Amino acid sequence: MQEVSRRLVSVLRRTDTVARLGGDEFAVLLPGADDERSRSVCKKILAALDRPIKVENLQLRAGISIGVALCPEDGQDANLLMQRADVAMYEAKRHQHGFAFYSADRDDNSISRLGLAAELREAIEHDELMLEYQPMVDIRTGRIFCAEALVRWSHPRYGCVPPEEFICIAEQTGVIRPLTLWVIDQALGQAAAWRRAGIDLRVSVNLSVRSLQDRKLPGQVQKLVDKHFCDPDKVILEITESALMSDPLTARRVMRRLSNMGFQISIDDFGTGYSSLAYLKQLPVDEIKIDRSFVTQMDRDENDAVIVRATIDLAHNLGLKVVAEGVESSDVWDLLEMLGCDTAQGYFIRKPLQPGELASWIESKAWAGSRWDSPVPVAG
Ligand code: C2E
Ligand code: CA
Ligand code: CA
Repeated sequence: MQEVSRRLVSVLRRTDTVARLGGDEFAVLLPGADDERSRSVCKKILAALDRPIKVENLQLRAGISIGVALCPEDGQDANLLMQRADVAMYEAKRHQHGFAFYSADRDDNSISRLGLAAELREAIEHDELMLEYQPMVDIRTGRIFCAEALVRWSHPRYGCVPPEEFICIAEQTGVIRPLTLWVIDQALGQAAAWRRAGIDLRVSVNLSVRSLQDRKLPGQVQKLVDKHFCDPDKVILEITESALMSDPLTARRVMRRLSNMGFQISIDDFGTGYSSLAYLKQLPVDEIKIDRSFVTQMDRDENDAVIVRATIDLAHNLGLKVVAEGVESSDVWDLLEMLGCDTAQGYFIRKPLQPGELASWIESKAWAGSRWDSPVPVAG
C-alpha cells in the first residue's frame, strides 16, 4: 500500500490529491482536469503500477482498475461524483480495460457497488439469495458423497448476478459476514433435510478471505451447528489458497478452531496461489482442491497433466485427499482415475442444481447407471 501510494504521488502534480478510501481503494482528485488530462493521468498511473513491487524476496504485481467521473459533466457534488467514478471503475474491472470514464448510457445496466452492497444486505435479510449444490463424486466407487453449496442471487433489475461479482463486493463492504453465516445456516439446514429424507450427503461450503480474519466466526458457526444438530465431521469448509496469505496468523488461528470443532478443511483453487504443500501441511488441512484451470484440459495439455499428477502424488504422500474440480469430460475422468485422484466435481458429472433437483437426480441413480454397469450405492 505504501509503495502504491508513493507511485501514485509520483505521477501527479502538487495541486492534485491522493487519498486512500480504505482497503485497497484510492481516490485521486485532479482539480481543473479535463477529459484529456484525466486520460493521460490514468495512463501514467497504469504505467507506474505496471512495474512489479518488491517486498522482501517477492515480486508482486498490482492489478488495478480506474474509474473516472468529471465535474461538472457527471455531477456537481462529491457524493454523486464518487458514486459515478465507482460505476466507471466497475466497468473498467469488468472489461479489464485498466480505466473507464463514467457514461450515463451504461449506468442503467451497470452495477453500482455502493448500491449493490446495500441491496445485498437486504437480500440476505429477506432470504432472497439461494443456494445451488454441485455433486462431488468418489472416483474409486462412483458414489456421490458430497455437494458444494454455491450461492445465487437473482436481482430484481440486473437478473442473475454471478457470485464472483457480489462476493467481492460483500468482502469490501463487510456484508460478507452475514452472507457467510447465511450460507452456512442454509447449507447445514439442507444437509439435515436430506438426512431426514434418507439421503446421506456431506455439504461443502466456501469461506471467503474475510471470514478467516473474523475471530468471532467459529463461535457463530458453533451456534449454527447446534441449531441443526449437525455433525461437523460431515461438513467441508473450502478456503482459497490466497486467504491464507493475507493475515496468516489470524487465518491460522481461525482455521485451527474450526478444525478442532470437527470440520474438514479443504484448500480451494489450489495451484493459483503461492503456498507450498509443505506449508499447508503445518495447517489443519484435510484435502486440497486442484484448481479447474489445471484440470479441464489436462487430457490435451501435457503441462497440466504433469502438474495434476505431481500434485496428487505429493498431496497423498502428505496424507491429504485430492479433489479435482472442473472435470468436463470422460477423458479427464479416466485420467484422474488412473492417477489415483480421490474426488471429482464438474460439468461431466453435473452442473450445480437446486436442492430438490439434486435429490431427485441422486434418487434416479442416473449417474451411477451411466458410468457403472452394476449399480453402486449412491449415498451413504
Ligand atoms: P469455486 O469455489 O471454485 O466454485 C466452483 C465454480 O466452478 C462454480 O461457479 C461452478 O459452477 C463452476 N464449475 C463447476 N463445474 C465446472 C466445470 O466443469 N467447468 C467449469 N468451467 N466450471 C465449473 P460459481 O457458482 O459461479 O461460483 C464462482 C465462485 O464464487 C466460486 O468458485 C467461489 O469462489 C465463489 N462462491 C460461490 N458461492 C460462494 C459462497 O457461498 N461463499 C463464498 N465465500 N464464495 C462463494
Ligand atoms: Ca469452492
Ligand atoms: Ca475452486
